[in-house]
Amino acid sequence: PHEDSIKVVVRVRPLLKREIERSPECLVDIDNDQSIVLSPGVNSLQARKYREAQKFTFSKCLWSYDKRTSVPYADQNTVFAEVGSELLDNTLDGFNSCVIAYGQTGSGKTYTMMGTDDEDGLIPMVCRQLFTRLDQQVHTKVQVKISFIEIYQENVYDLLGNGSKLRVRENSERIPFIENLNEYNVSDSREIMKLLNEGFEKRTTAETHLNKQSSRSHSILTVTVVQEKFDPATGSLVKLKSNLKLVDLAGSEKFVASDGLDKTRQQEGSRINKSLVTLGRVLTILSQRPTKKTVIPYRDSILTWLLKENIGGNSKTIMIACVSPTDFDETLSTLRFATITSRIENQVQVNKESRS
Ligand code: ADP
Repeated sequence: PHEDSIKVVVRVRPLLKREIERSPECLVDIDNDQSIVLSPGVNSLQARKYREAQKFTFSKCLWSYDKRTSVPYADQNTVFAEVGSELLDNTLDGFNSCVIAYGQTGSGKTYTMMGTDDEDGLIPMVCRQLFTRLDQQVHTKVQVKISFIEIYQENVYDLLGNGSKLRVRENSERIPFIENLNEYNVSDSREIMKLLNEGFEKRTTAETHLNKQSSRSHSILTVTVVQEKFDPATGSLVKLKSNLKLVDLAGSEKFVASDGLDKTRQQEGSRINKSLVTLGRVLTILSQRPTKKTVIPYRDSILTWLLKENIGGNSKTIMIACVSPTDFDETLSTLRFATITSRIENQVQVNKESRS
């Protein structure tokens, strides 16, 4: 195995129509395509607390706030070029790979991962390109399977099944898996998108006046790719197996109990926080270079348990930290979270079996 650090990419979204009407201050600026500057502004509540602007450096900063000449505007194709093609390279080379979208509700996670009716996001583009690339590989036997789940209130629901709760277990190698999860064989990207759309309709999350449907649950799409090819150099049959996970997390904002929220909503908040809080704890421990003896509390939440291989294990992982240009506290918290994540080294190796 070799060390491979989790790559972190930040994306700043543009102002939304309703925000433009309020003409808010933009608190985020791009320095170069690797650094982003967050300033408390002059009018905000935070201006008194934080006087200095803060600069954060990542693998890549994707600027989708406005079109300017100093940096290229990051549209959906830019995200694919920066993140998607690398994911595909890794997957086809036999590595487990993962992309995690993190950020507060409304920061652009779903736009980045799924896109809109007019502008495909990363998932549809990656699925399409996966089959284009697989079709170019002659003499390779390929199998592609998908599963799609939602984690809601620390329960796992199969979005491609009958909606029942499923159990997480561990195999003899201590790799977690979901019992009785439906996996579908797929032969092109249209089949995947059809299944995903059916899955989205099943998302259990209730709507509140504060949040749109998906903001309180985590979704994980897993694409398993098995390639079998003859290696003329060794005369053996090589089997490469890779898992590609595409994760859209629940909104990372702090849960604020407000009058309009009933008990379920409040309970929901604390349990969803359990997965996100545990994710934060796990990433913090991993970022501090733990020894072999350090206990990493993966099993304290369903999300971290299921992503165990992807955070700190055998996976090439990319985090896309999505931020809003006008929310100082949440953006600061996301950029700090992203910084911790960028310090983590995974131990990766190709999943390969040879038979003569
Ligand atoms: P989240 O999934 O984080 O809650 P969304 O993806 O739903 O956030 O984004 C909130 C709103 O902002 C949506 O209306 C979305 O279309 C818009 N949006 C987000 N990012 C961009 C972007 N880069 N370019 C244009 N619109 C965006």
